Amino acid sequence: MVKVKVDTLELNMYIDGQWTKSSNGGMRSVINPATGEEIAQAPEGTVEDAKKAIQAAREAFDTGVWSEVPAIERAAFLLKVADKIDERAEELARLETIDNGKPLREAEGDIADAAACFRYYAGIVTKPDGETYHVTDPMQAMVVREPVGVCGLIVPWNFPLLMSVWKLAPALAAGNTVVFKPSEVTPITPTKLFEIFEEVGLPKGVANMVMGAGDVVGDAITESPDVDMISFTGGTKTGKHIMKKAADTMKKVSLELGGKSPNIIFADADFEVAVDFALFGIYCGSGQVCSAGSRILVEESIYDRFVDRFVERAKQIKVGAGLAEGTEMGPLVSQQHLEKVLSYIEIGKEEGARVICGGNRITANGYDKGYFVEPTAFVDVNQNMRIVQEEIFGPVAVIQKFSTEEEAIQLANGTKYGLAGAVFSNDGAKALRIIKKLRSGITWINSYHPTYNEAPWGGYKESGIGRSLGTHGFDEFQEIKQININLQVEPVQWFEK
Ligand code: NDP
Repeated sequence: MVKVKVDTLELNMYIDGQWTKSSNGGMRSVINPATGEEIAQAPEGTVEDAKKAIQAAREAFDTGVWSEVPAIERAAFLLKVADKIDERAEELARLETIDNGKPLREAEGDIADAAACFRYYAGIVTKPDGETYHVTDPMQAMVVREPVGVCGLIVPWNFPLLMSVWKLAPALAAGNTVVFKPSEVTPITPTKLFEIFEEVGLPKGVANMVMGAGDVVGDAITESPDVDMISFTGGTKTGKHIMKKAADTMKKVSLELGGKSPNIIFADADFEVAVDFALFGIYCGSGQVCSAGSRILVEESIYDRFVDRFVERAKQIKVGAGLAEGTEMGPLVSQQHLEKVLSYIEIGKEEGARVICGGNRITANGYDKGYFVEPTAFVDVNQNMRIVQEEIFGPVAVIQKFSTEEEAIQLANGTKYGLAGAVFSNDGAKALRIIKKLRSGITWINSYHPTYNEAPWGGYKESGIGRSLGTHGFDEFQEIKQININLQVEPVQWFEK
């Protein structure tokens, strides 16, 4: 156990270019999930704080201080942000690890991806984006893209900086102003990003950050008639709530929600590669990844061999504090989440499924105050069990058996979710055939997890609406306007004089 003593950070919100406390002085502890120790105090924002932030964003949008800045200058700003993230990469990665719990190597990857995302959108913003249509003479039709306006951006705790950047980079690139809310559990690196915005001179009011409970601050943002759009990443239950609330003011919504993704392994796959990716698919990020391969479907003829090898390797995973040397899997993010994951393990046992590895909290080696859970897997499951249908969002896999392609597809698509999925096979035609049948937005063949700024990210069914990243993710933050131009300026003569 590595002892990492850090001074408690005192965080502030960022509203209209000012670092501010909560209007009622409320604060909340931010906890290191590896040690249970307080690492920061964050303001407990109020409805009044949210309203101030919305007002600042509204004014900044309506006066054009950002939307009317030439695209090339907005791009230059985004590039400076990316450079500053790179300069502070070591500090940001350490803070991400002590706040979220993820191993340092994962945090380092997230920080590098965050910088790359700003660079990607800096590149896009200056590229041609209009359309013209040859319509009936003497008319000429064209289409232009415009910012949506004030965007409410709400993110979860599993990738505190990266999820923030997936929204902030395209929203700002497109010329919007924003009211951003990090998860209360992990507000540290988002705060550092706002320090960077200030440092590179983003005009005041363009990017505002409020903290506070989702059902206070989040609701205030969602309900406000001055907010034009909500882009939310989080649980499906919260997503549904937001969609309903946003309907009253007819806001545009973009929702990246939960998943229960299938990882389908055929007997003709490279066996060791498939086992390796199956472990990575579920245990990377301690399973707290929306696209985690939490349902492993294995062809009958290799099922027993697969399970044996999977368990052998899962038991070797080094679980520990994210900053400890050699850690491969960190703790869960919070006490509350630990309890949720442990309760699902109990539900699985009560449903009659069999734990073949893990299943317990880890308290040895000084980890008794942290939120560690063993890499866990269940067999003897059926499709109706809650552990097969519901998102656990922890290091808990179910390993199912199938005998035909049809059965694999039926099991794979047999939940309300449709976020991600993978197929392992050395038969390329079969792999593609199956992938095309998956009702999921993010898929892999002979791989699991890699994602790219260039490619759209999002789900089918109850896994969400809309896409992040790529040009599709940029489109989410833009309105589309048609402009019809008369090239022969004469009266229409519809009515007689
Ligand atoms: P939640 O839905 O609980 O919270 C996400 C964010 O929404 C938090 O900032 C939370 O605030 C806020 N929130 C809560 N209630 C409201 C409300 N009434 N109005 C507005 N905002 C609200 O999810 P978790 O933080 O627990 O994150 C885990 C979930 O996120 C998983 O289901 C996972 O699958 C999903 N996810 C999806 C991704 C994707 O790309 N599809 C990526 C990453 C995660 P508070 O600070 O109070 O919690």
